[in-house]
Amino acid sequence: MTTVTNLGFPRIGARRELKHALEGYWRGESDAAQLQASAAALRARHWQLQRDAGVDVPPSNDFSLYDHVLDTAVLFDAIPQRYRQLAERAPLDAYFAMARGLQRDDVDLHALEMTKWFDTNYHYLVPELQRDQVFTLRGDKPQSEYREARALGIDTRPVLLGPVSLLLLSKTTDGSNPLDLLDNLLPAYAQLLGELKQLGASWVQLDEPVLVQDLDDATRAAFVRAYAVLADVPRPDILLATYFGALDDNQSLAATLPVEGLHVDLVRAPEQLDAVLRALPASRVLSLGLVNGRNIWRAPLDNALILARYALGHRGADKLWLAPSCSLLHCPVDLTLEKKLDGELRSWLAFSRQKLQELRTLADALDGDTNAEPALAQAREAIESRRRSPRVHNATVKGRLAALAAADAVRATPHAQRQLLQAQALRLPAFPTTTIGSFPQTQEVREARARHKSGKLTADDYDTFLAAQTEHCVRVQEQIGLDVLVHGEFERNDMVEYFGEQLDGFAFTGNGWVQSYGSRCVKPPVIYGDVSRPAPMTVRWSQYAQSLTDKPMKGMLTGPVTVLQWSFVRDDQSRADTCRQIALALRDEVCDLEAAGIRAIQIDEPALREGLPLRRAEWQPYLDWAVDAFRISASGVADATQIHTHMCYAQFNDIIEAVAALDADVISIETSRSRMELLDAFARFDYPNQVGPGVYDIHSPRVPDTAEMVELLRKASAVLPAQKLWVNPDCGLKTRGWEETRAALEAMVDAARTLRSER
Ligand code: GLN
Ligand code: ZN
Repeated sequence: MTTVTNLGFPRIGARRELKHALEGYWRGESDAAQLQASAAALRARHWQLQRDAGVDVPPSNDFSLYDHVLDTAVLFDAIPQRYRQLAERAPLDAYFAMARGLQRDDVDLHALEMTKWFDTNYHYLVPELQRDQVFTLRGDKPQSEYREARALGIDTRPVLLGPVSLLLLSKTTDGSNPLDLLDNLLPAYAQLLGELKQLGASWVQLDEPVLVQDLDDATRAAFVRAYAVLADVPRPDILLATYFGALDDNQSLAATLPVEGLHVDLVRAPEQLDAVLRALPASRVLSLGLVNGRNIWRAPLDNALILARYALGHRGADKLWLAPSCSLLHCPVDLTLEKKLDGELRSWLAFSRQKLQELRTLADALDGDTNAEPALAQAREAIESRRRSPRVHNATVKGRLAALAAADAVRATPHAQRQLLQAQALRLPAFPTTTIGSFPQTQEVREARARHKSGKLTADDYDTFLAAQTEHCVRVQEQIGLDVLVHGEFERNDMVEYFGEQLDGFAFTGNGWVQSYGSRCVKPPVIYGDVSRPAPMTVRWSQYAQSLTDKPMKGMLTGPVTVLQWSFVRDDQSRADTCRQIALALRDEVCDLEAAGIRAIQIDEPALREGLPLRRAEWQPYLDWAVDAFRISASGVADATQIHTHMCYAQFNDIIEAVAALDADVISIETSRSRMELLDAFARFDYPNQVGPGVYDIHSPRVPDTAEMVELLRKASAVLPAQKLWVNPDCGLKTRGWEETRAALEAMVDAARTLRSER
């Protein structure tokens, strides 16, 4: 009989129960025992749900109160010095202090750094290690969760982050190489594996997703060494789990490590099946990742069955497991709770619970059980209906895409000439000042939006409210003396949702929450069909704001790559094509803004960098289509219309060429925390267009003074020509209060004036 398993289940709960339990605890409304009880109830429910869906062996220790990488660091006592005192007294407080910082009485602990988990929108906490770091088995989370499931009559496979991935995902505070710590770390893993064996676990899952990335020789050697050491200790059998891509050049390494099973991602990389079957010794279990753990579409079960049958022929049912491609952490929990989507759309989707049922169907079909037939037929029908649906296909959009010419992605004249025309048209001084788009989203703004959404505030009254907010925002900017104004984005809930709601081809779930970090979840829009723009989306507010002032009003759009990156995307056409469709819709918006008298238009692309593929060889093709999409959206306007873009992240060196290729007239970037060091990448590259380096950090309520911003601007003028520089904050101001915003921007405008007077 073929075994169905799962690599990990979403922790947050179908109704975000974990979020509510955590936030209640943080607010002091519940105690640790209550929090732990809620967590245990969720685990029990999720194990049972998985069993009921037909999973033979569900995972354990896939749960986390905050993050599984943090759990692993704490488990092995990799707790940085600053938290240790607290960790002795109050371990749970120390755990949350590492996750989110702690300011209380006389304690002030900053959190660990947070960063993206591979190419997902999940963020993990980066363990801080140092030379000679000692690891000991401090915790017993995997053991106790294994016992907990056993007490419920469910035998699970404990999941652990593997030792090599753990080290590669960590950073050291002293510049030493984390991999040097491998020999210190392995005894702690060995001890843990021994304890799990003692408890009766027959398998453990060691996640080593770094195996789908480019690895150097030292890392490969670390793999060989780590698994050789673990081969010799008393322990359960090991399933080595790889996901998010193909093993490629790491395949023979992965297939020959001395473990008992290997999981491969056949959704991202079905082509690797044959090679893996050949390379993996016959005695080993092969776990096939057949159902997409990263998206919400029903699986094409007939295709999956072809792969599974092929594998069965080579390996035999005893050694074959069926699983999702990766942990289901990146999927919502249960489609049956989804009330907002219409029936047709819902019939095309599968959330975590449904994905496990799909695996059961596959396993049954593989074992020759005719009871699988109706489910297979249903899946076939759903996929057919999606393929044929007029909601998915729009001939006009496809035609426009096919007719795109190289010239559509090029501005008419080079930037150097455009810059002169624009400075004239916009009447800009040297060191022009502007902001990134949003102004404070006060309690009042959020309440009005909620009241409008629930029908308590009429559309007219809501409009009147937004108009008043916008006007106030314009007046404040005029008083402060900013050069290029914005309307403030009060009408926007979220920078992707706002556009998705107005575009055809997008749908929104009521409950499709996915964990982003800790208690924070996102509800990504679902792009199900060809994207088009039935009507202008932002023109009305931009035009209204422009009518209030003689200063230039900057239009504000979210770029095609960012809309794509923060949505669940179609699996029936390439990401590049979907991105180009979004770009065409935005291009129409850009042209309509221009026609309405808006002469500066910003197209935000904060997600350009995070779309980078995991393998270096795939970067350039991605950057090519991503840059092309941005340029399609931006290139329909006259030379005198100024295109801005905005990106906020801490690394430009390796993508500066692509950033320059966007050919935005002005790019604003986050630089204040790196004290302008980020500008070096622009200077070295001789970045040809204009740059607005952020002169103050918007993440804190602190008001910077003029002198420190003058100093930053002088630093910037030392590396880039002064006539290319703009003056702006690091990012949007939506999380700030009005008082601090006004004070900070006044000081910023002062700083720009100082620089002008020095010229
Ligand atoms: N225009 C957006 C804002 O100001 C940009 C947000 C972002 O960079 N993430 O809020
Ligand atoms: Zn930003």
